[in-house]
Amino acid sequence: MNVNFSPSVLTHIAQGAALAETLTCIAHEIEEKNPELAIAILLLEDGQHLRVGAAPSLHPDYCRAIDGMAADDMGQMDAGNIEDSRLLSGLRDTALRYGLHVSAITPLHSGTNSVPGFFIVHTRTAEQDSSLYRQTMTDAAVLASIAVQGHDAEARIRKAENALLQNETIMAQAIEGSGTGIWDRNIATGEIHYSSGWKAMLGYVDTEITNQIEHSYSRVHPDDLAHVQATMQAHFDQKTASYAVEHRIRCKDGSYKYISSRGRVVSRDAAGKPLRMIGTTTDITAMRALSDKLQQSVDLITSLTNEVPGLVYQYRSRPNGSACFSYASEGIRDIYELAPEQVADDVTLVHRIIHPDDYADYCASLDASAASLTPWHLEYRVILPKQGLRWRQGDAKPQRLPDGSTLWHGFITDVTERKQIEIELQGFATIDFLTQLPNRRYFMTRMEEELARIQRIGGARAAVLMCDLDHFKLINDSHGHAIGDLVLKHFAVILRNALRKNDTVGRVGGEEFAVVLSDAGLDEASVFAQRVRKQIAETPFVFGTSTIAVTVSIGIAIMNAADDNTDASLSRSDMALYRAKESGRNRIEIDVN
Ligand code: GH3
Ligand code: MG
Ligand code: MG
Repeated sequence: MNVNFSPSVLTHIAQGAALAETLTCIAHEIEEKNPELAIAILLLEDGQHLRVGAAPSLHPDYCRAIDGMAADDMGQMDAGNIEDSRLLSGLRDTALRYGLHVSAITPLHSGTNSVPGFFIVHTRTAEQDSSLYRQTMTDAAVLASIAVQGHDAEARIRKAENALLQNETIMAQAIEGSGTGIWDRNIATGEIHYSSGWKAMLGYVDTEITNQIEHSYSRVHPDDLAHVQATMQAHFDQKTASYAVEHRIRCKDGSYKYISSRGRVVSRDAAGKPLRMIGTTTDITAMRALSDKLQQSVDLITSLTNEVPGLVYQYRSRPNGSACFSYASEGIRDIYELAPEQVADDVTLVHRIIHPDDYADYCASLDASAASLTPWHLEYRVILPKQGLRWRQGDAKPQRLPDGSTLWHGFITDVTERKQIEIELQGFATIDFLTQLPNRRYFMTRMEEELARIQRIGGARAAVLMCDLDHFKLINDSHGHAIGDLVLKHFAVILRNALRKNDTVGRVGGEEFAVVLSDAGLDEASVFAQRVRKQIAETPFVFGTSTIAVTVSIGIAIMNAADDNTDASLSRSDMALYRAKESGRNRIEIDVN
């Protein structure tokens, strides 16, 4: 037995006729040429049940009986195990009840591994050698498979199309819901269609807006129109990938809204001329107002910080050791003679202008502030190309950032003038105005330091000398107080010149001067004292044509580590001085205790 399928079957398949019709056509062709056979094509539906797809010559009762038959394990079934399957034995039993014999069953094939159905051959007599028509069955099953696959593919496309349509609707609804309007422009005809949401955005109802593009342009703010049209033209000319512009548009009530309009040409003719363009419009009035307000705040802060004399800044120190000024006001041009952009990434330029003597303090103070998150405060010197040596005062509050960086918010001012006054005042507090020698208070501080040094370092020594001008009252009385002052200055110069680097002198009384000689014993102190005594004695004070002879008496004592305080050695030298006065003046006495 053999069947050459007619062109009609192939046409059915090629033209995508209804599946049942194609399958019936296939079954018919076989039955016509082999009247002893009855064909049924079963299709798997919802993965579980078999439905009769075609059975042109079989009794409807039999069709109903096999329709809906469960096809267990269909997915795994193939030609090899059909003979043993429950499906086949179930079919055989059912067929027998209708006087039919199932003589062959051939699975259909889908594009995947699963079996979409079966081709079943019935005979009316029991003994029929199925090998006779096996090839025909295989061919028929292949044709039926192709028809089924074509049908499945169509069904899938329809399903995908439906899903797409649904997605589009959802998307359009979402866009409308978000306050964005949609427009669709036919460039060739000059028509433009707006969504209801678009119209509502401008306060119109659906019927109130024409679809003429000229009318659309008439709603654009006159000051924005040229820009809008130029941007559109650039996109038409394919100079931009899409159209995006922000502009004002007139609403129904005459007020203007700021909108963001975006779109794209979706079709062009062969020459590239735009035919259709689709886009969206979003109301950004509120956003614009907010960003304007934000900009105003930024402008206010920037102008405030720039007007304030001094540097307002944010300084960021990162865990990897790098640092930058994440913000620096214009004041940095005066404070560091640098531009804000010069320190935006790197601070080495700032490090270079900090006075070398203050640089270690500068770094250490920042490190300490970062470690304990305590405010930074420092007075330090800078050496600037134009201003030279200047004093700066920095104050900043640190903050730790999530990445481990420390961010200081701070302020640096010029404190040069104050520092100069302070240094001057400090001078007033420590220097004797008449002689420019250290005053008693400063001298006593140095004595304290010296005593502490001796007590700390075994073997360290110091000598204390007390000097008192002889008969000074007489000089005052003879030449006047002013001349007396000049004599005091005269002696101060001689005394100062006799000192070594670590020695300290102080004017401790009217015409009394004390000296502490660091690292000196009695011998060195005596030599020093003799030199001073001799020099003043040999250097009379000269004014005009007159000269005044001046002498000094000196008492020497040694500072002891055992001394309770500085008064001890001072009073011992004072006692020695007393003896020098007693013994005739212009001489030196040494404390012997
Ligand atoms: P002696 O040799 O015993 O030290 O005699 P003296 O006259 O130097 O002793 P005395 O202590 O009696 O006198 C010190 C004088 O120094 C008294 C005081 O008027 C004067 N005198 C103190 N301070 C100043 C000063 O700043 N300028 C001037 N011109 N005289 C001063
Ligand atoms: Mg005196
Ligand atoms: Mg005196």
